[in-house]
Amino acid sequence: MTRGICILGATGSIGKSTLDVVSRHPDQFRIVALTGNHRVAEMQLLCQQHHPELVVMAAPEAAQQLRVGLGDAGLKKIQVESGPEALAEAARMSGVDEVMAAIVGAAGLLPTLAAVEAGKKVYLANKECLVMAGNLFMERVRQHQVTLLPIDSEHNAVFQCFADGKGVRRILLTASGGPFRTWPAEHLAVVTPDQACAHPNWVMGRKISVDSATMMNKGLEVIEAHWLFDLPASRIDVMIHPQSIIHSMVEYVDGSVLAQLGNPDMRTPIAHALAFPERMESGVSSLDLAHGPDLQFEAPDLQRFPCLALAFDALQAGGAAATVLNAANEIAVQAFLEGHLPFLRIAAVVEDTLGELQPAAPDHLDDVLAIDQLAREVALRHLARHGSGMQ
Ligand code: NAD
Ligand code: MG
Repeated sequence: MTRGICILGATGSIGKSTLDVVSRHPDQFRIVALTGNHRVAEMQLLCQQHHPELVVMAAPEAAQQLRVGLGDAGLKKIQVESGPEALAEAARMSGVDEVMAAIVGAAGLLPTLAAVEAGKKVYLANKECLVMAGNLFMERVRQHQVTLLPIDSEHNAVFQCFADGKGVRRILLTASGGPFRTWPAEHLAVVTPDQACAHPNWVMGRKISVDSATMMNKGLEVIEAHWLFDLPASRIDVMIHPQSIIHSMVEYVDGSVLAQLGNPDMRTPIAHALAFPERMESGVSSLDLAHGPDLQFEAPDLQRFPCLALAFDALQAGGAAATVLNAANEIAVQAFLEGHLPFLRIAAVVEDTLGELQPAAPDHLDDVLAIDQLAREVALRHLARHGSGMQ
């Protein structure tokens, strides 16, 4: 029997890597639903290759264009829908057994929660879900007894080294340090979006690429690890490892440190999660340690990369600080990508928003969404100040 898959965010970097892995195992999987935002041509190509039953485009005009394109290509029987409710519907579909949650940002929260509430097995790439609503999200996962497997390479590595969690002293999340690891602070003032998105080891979507360049990505991952592995911030450390060969480590009370290694290719954690507890071929080449680069390690520089410190502080502050951090960061990163905010001011917008808003821990999803919305409004106000002078 094949397992029915829904990929939320199929046109993205994780979505495409997932389709690559799944296509290697047609005996095990069938693509039931794919979702995207507005990239019509890319989605049309995915439809021609994978023949899903349902496609959802978040943007209505994109859905309309896709319907026309699929009609012309003789693929009229693929149903095309649009809007947030349809995204959630794709995750809940009866023919779907498992959902890859790979939408970027807060937009992924509701459809991923819909998958959890429908009792689907969830592969979680969308770390923002846990950053903005970790408590509620994990509560629903427990309530619906859902299997949640981490796709983020660090968390997947920790999961592989974690066993039953007995005797764990701390986890060590590795970080490449991003494209600006060795750059002096004064050069960071004038970097462009394309420079920030040119990651040395990974090809990823633009939002996570900027997060890697500011190291907010590692901060979001610290919060993600807190929820996934139930560890306090004091037992989650970050270690710079520029080669991205060791994807993270777990240290035990007896001094043992277990690490997971592999070439930097997201198809490894994706295949690990899809096959778990078995293993399957991912298309990733063997790791050649003898001819590869030397493995280096260094402590992170919180002065040049203040976003990492802001995320640790938000986790320690509790309440809804992480929800505010995530929302402000999304606003700031988008403004940077659009050329309205200098790179170094991303941290300033996040810090000022956190300074202004200290909401209590949300009890309900509606509270999370209201705090997210308010934080975006406050961040936009700070943005106007920090971005002044730019186009
Ligand atoms: P991406 O930008 O390449 O793709 C994002 C996907 O989300 C696209 O399919 C896009 O259509 C969809 N999307 C964007 N906005 C949407 C909206 N408002 N409504 C509905 N759909 C929307 O991003 P990515 O690099 O694939 O990352 C996806 C998620 O996985 C992010 O949360 C990221 O942090 C996480 N992640 C990515 C990587 C990686 O290597 N790319 C690694 C670890 C974790
Ligand atoms: Mg990661």
